[in-house]
Amino acid sequence: IIEEMRRQSQRMTQLVEDLLALSRLEAQDALEDEDVPMAPLLATLRREALALSQDRHEVTVEDAAGVDLRGSARELHSAFSNLVANAVRYTPSGGRITVRLERHADGGASLSVSDTGYGIPEAHLARLTERFYRVSSSRTRETGGTGLGLAIVKHILNRHRGGLTVESAPGQGAAFTAWLPAAPSDAVT
Ligand code: ATP
Ligand code: MG
Repeated sequence: IIEEMRRQSQRMTQLVEDLLALSRLEAQDALEDEDVPMAPLLATLRREALALSQDRHEVTVEDAAGVDLRGSARELHSAFSNLVANAVRYTPSGGRITVRLERHADGGASLSVSDTGYGIPEAHLARLTERFYRVSSSRTRETGGTGLGLAIVKHILNRHRGGLTVESAPGQGAAFTAWLPAAPSDAVT
């Protein structure tokens, strides 16, 4: 019983933190414009995935771009971590999680997080980034999130004038791609 109370209070704390994160994002209109070095960020994402997975998954991190991003390092870290946490949470033991940074021909870049987990039925895909939206199944109930993660991710990417795309099918895993436009400094030549 004590254990259950501890879990519930952790969930409550997480919920409050996520709500605060969202309202901070909404209140703050100026976006930081700093260099976001990707090599250390990818290394951090790898560490986070391994820590959450506790060795239950195979984790691969690939840098096919070798570019850094621009914007808020803290926010981008938060967005990418959310995707990584979902991949671990919604992939059963023995699955594979791949994080890949790619560069686009137009100078933009994208970070994709794909997994070999439960996947998501098509009917839910369009609504995933709504606040508190969770795909209803006994599986997601068990894993106890609040449904704010992807709302935060979408908000952060929008602020960076990027976006989020999702490809998935039940039993086929899921691939979330966060894309970001070319940095303004790249555009002026
Ligand atoms: P939290 O607020 O803790 O992130 P959450 O993970 O439930 O809670 P979101 O991250 O917003 O909330 O995700 C919304 C829903 O989308 C999840 O409940 C889950 O049903 C589905 N989902 C997200 N990522 C994946 C994934 N990689 N594979 C399968 N389903 C996913
Ligand atoms: Mg989540």
